[in-house]
Amino acid sequence: MARNTFRQDERLDEPFNFKHLLRASVYMKKYAGKMVFALIISALGGAIGLIAPRINQEALDVAIPNTDTRYLIELAIMLVGTIVISIILTTIRSRIMIKVSQGIIYDIRKDLFAHLQKLPFQYYDDRPHGKILIRVVNYVNSVSDMLSNGLINVILEIFNLIFIVAFMFSVDVQLALVVLCGVPVLAVFMLWIKNKQRKAWQAVSNKNSNLNAYLQENIVGARITQIFAREDYNAQVFAGLSSDCRNTWMTAVRYNNLVWPGIDTISVLVRAAIFLFGMVVFSTAEGGMKSVGVIVAISSYASRFWQPIMNLGNIFNNFINNIAYLERIFQTLDEPVTVDDAPDATEMPEIKGEVEFKNVDFSYEEGKPVLKNVSFKVKPGQSVALVGPTGAGKSTIVSLVSRFYNVGGGQVLIDGQDISKVTLHSLRSQMGIMLQDSFIFSGTIEDNIRYGKLDATMDEIRAASKIVCADAFISAMEDGYQSEVRERGTTLSQGQKQLISFARTLISDPKILVLDEATSSIDVQTERALQTGLNNMMKGRTTFIIAHRLSTIKNCDVIMYIDDGGIVETGTHEELLAKHGLYYHLYTSQMDEKGA
Ligand code: ADP
Repeated sequence: MARNTFRQDERLDEPFNFKHLLRASVYMKKYAGKMVFALIISALGGAIGLIAPRINQEALDVAIPNTDTRYLIELAIMLVGTIVISIILTTIRSRIMIKVSQGIIYDIRKDLFAHLQKLPFQYYDDRPHGKILIRVVNYVNSVSDMLSNGLINVILEIFNLIFIVAFMFSVDVQLALVVLCGVPVLAVFMLWIKNKQRKAWQAVSNKNSNLNAYLQENIVGARITQIFAREDYNAQVFAGLSSDCRNTWMTAVRYNNLVWPGIDTISVLVRAAIFLFGMVVFSTAEGGMKSVGVIVAISSYASRFWQPIMNLGNIFNNFINNIAYLERIFQTLDEPVTVDDAPDATEMPEIKGEVEFKNVDFSYEEGKPVLKNVSFKVKPGQSVALVGPTGAGKSTIVSLVSRFYNVGGGQVLIDGQDISKVTLHSLRSQMGIMLQDSFIFSGTIEDNIRYGKLDATMDEIRAASKIVCADAFISAMEDGYQSEVRERGTTLSQGQKQLISFARTLISDPKILVLDEATSSIDVQTERALQTGLNNMMKGRTTFIIAHRLSTIKNCDVIMYIDDGGIVETGTHEELLAKHGLYYHLYTSQMDEKGA
């Protein structure tokens, strides 16, 4: 998919495509029995409800003129009976359908979430997260209603219409034909208004999606907003997006508000025609005026006649919107898991730690190469530092070691095994990866460390924390390992978050460590703890470390200077200093800064 931002509307005005509906039937199959039962109940309820005008007709034409009180009471009881039965059936139906629609929501969300978790980093790099959220939350809600109630309602409304017409004709053929004359007028009106309404609501949906994307981005980036005092600017952007939402909503509601007055006008005209024809035209032609009961019954059916037509129009509109949502949902489900196990993938044997890049090419976007023909070999247990200017490709190299992206050309080998040929789980479960952002989940510190190994015992957690020098500060907290931390670890310092993520990484006893060092400055004491923790972690493991503070990596076995997507210099700290090349300049400039 093209890159999308909060400024771009998603394309929602798709032609009505039954293909998506057919595919969605997979989610409905499970509930077919319940849906058929609900349909029968509703049809029954609808049919019973339609008897009422006939009862009224009997009352007006027979019971009242004959002053037959007993018959009148019987008719009244029948009328109440039909209403009570209708209410009971409607309640049963709505209970069943709530279960069905919630079941469909649950099933689609489960699939979506499972798939989203497997999608490669690239997918999340390419689109606002708020737009992904809106698909999983809002769109699924909306389509579930179409898949459950929508389809049943279409059938019911069609039945309803047939029943109404049949009852009308059973009462009086001529007046029934008068009512049907109103249909073409209604059809023209409906086509016009529904088209306007559909477009208007699609615009609302697009603008909501954009607002959601911006809101989500700003919640996550709230700190940066405040650091850069961007509140006013952001408020203006948000106001613009909100105003788009308001304006599109107002337009949509304006069209909605036109619907009923339009229908009422047509309905009133048709009723006037019923009275005119019933009392005047047919009275001369047929030699007698239609009875009051007939006229009242027909006009009662006529007023009910518009409802199903209108409802069908609404359902059709909803279908069109929801089919577009369905397409988004299926598009997400179909998003290829580009970084996945090969069909013949084998389990990665226990890793010893040799890592080799053989002529690796890589690009995030076509035509923009990031790594060009990169080759190197690291022996088991060696520590490798990657240094170089920002954007050189250091993070990309370490991402490829863990196969977060597929290489464009060449091979990444671990212990001589091409990592694209082994299962991701067997590969990544033997690696410890620490990205720059030491992400902390809400829960206790213990939960956060256990994230690295779900069955870790408390002793293992404590032991890992001790090795990385995290135990001291955790034990000093009031609730120790049980201390609650909030989402993203807002109650912890940057250094503390890093120490916790060291422990989380170490607990699975990884054979290869990948560390993308955070650049944030921390106090000397924490820095010392981090350095000792890091050194302890690295013992006996092949380690890749992207360090911005060169003091961290002086003792690494190999230092690679990366620039412009390739390795420009490689050697130990001493060798590279002696070379007086790029590393030398980087190092001396950092030392100068420190000295200054
Ligand atoms: P470093 O870690 O050396 O700072 P990176 O490996 O992060 O550099 O980036 C190398 C190049 O790839 C940069 O030009 C960067 O803009 C680009 N890049 C990094 N991540 C992505 C991404 N997800 N999508 C597109 N381009 C990216």
